[in-house]
Amino acid sequence: MPRLAVLGFPVGHSRSPAMQSAALAELGLGEEWSYEAIEVAPDAFEERVRAMPGEGFAGANVTVPHKGAALSLADELSETAREIGAANTLVFAGDEIRAENTDAEGFLRSLPGSPEGKRALVLGAGGAARAVVWALLREGAAVEVWNRTELRSQHLCEELGGQTVGAPEQGAYALIVNTTAVGLGGEDPFAELPLDAAGFTAGQTVVDMVYGGEPTALLHAADAAGATTVDGIEILVQQGGLSLETWTTRPAPLDTMRAAARG
Ligand code: NAP
Repeated sequence: MPRLAVLGFPVGHSRSPAMQSAALAELGLGEEWSYEAIEVAPDAFEERVRAMPGEGFAGANVTVPHKGAALSLADELSETAREIGAANTLVFAGDEIRAENTDAEGFLRSLPGSPEGKRALVLGAGGAARAVVWALLREGAAVEVWNRTELRSQHLCEELGGQTVGAPEQGAYALIVNTTAVGLGGEDPFAELPLDAAGFTAGQTVVDMVYGGEPTALLHAADAAGATTVDGIEILVQQGGLSLETWTTRPAPLDTMRAAARG
């Protein structure tokens, strides 16, 4: 009976167990496969992962703060994971641990159209930003990166490409992506980020990777201006669907996953 899990610290808030368990049931694999949440501290991560194949695990999702460590311990890396510098999906194949990154492709699939040739603003320079910047550049977007700590956005652009921006002109972008954690703890995005609640325009696409039960204040304002909005749950569903397909080789039932993730 193959087991799957999400590894994080903390991990209690994760919607992946509900989402992936619903998907396995929909595929008729609910009796065979299982998906659980495992909380593991950074200093215990490698030992925990190395024990998993022997405990019947076929793979795992990896979330904050383990995405870099997952890359380091793998025997084989996908090109995407290597270039982004982070892995969110592990596959246990015999004695080998393979690391993949489905965050980048999941993000692209959540967009309403191709970002090719579009001017894009990415807010943030952490792990989520790296996957988003990498994906947008690969698709041919013109990417500008703002971060609270400018040194971090400079490093990101030196490594991956794109330009840093200090004072972005909000109305000039076809696509705006918030990859910061702002909003997660109820912070006011318009106090913490270089955005104005009244500064969105119709025709823009605004993405907020933060997810909770309600539309975030950022997406609420973007929607009120007539912009197209994409929330963090949709990105979670798309990256999770790609991980599930990697493990089971079956097409992911995205509608079922969406319903379960939205609770
Ligand atoms: P991370 O590596 O810790 O990076 C956090 C980022 O948030 C940094 O750029 C940080 O700026 C910025 N930040 C934090 N507090 C801020 C504030 N008060 N004002 C301005 N900037 C602030 O985290 P991550 O892994 O990139 O994740 C970021 C967010 O994306 C989290 O909310 C996470 O839940 C979400 N996420 C969602 C999905 C999904 O599937 N929907 C996937 C991955 C991540 P500094 O560099 O200045 O500290």
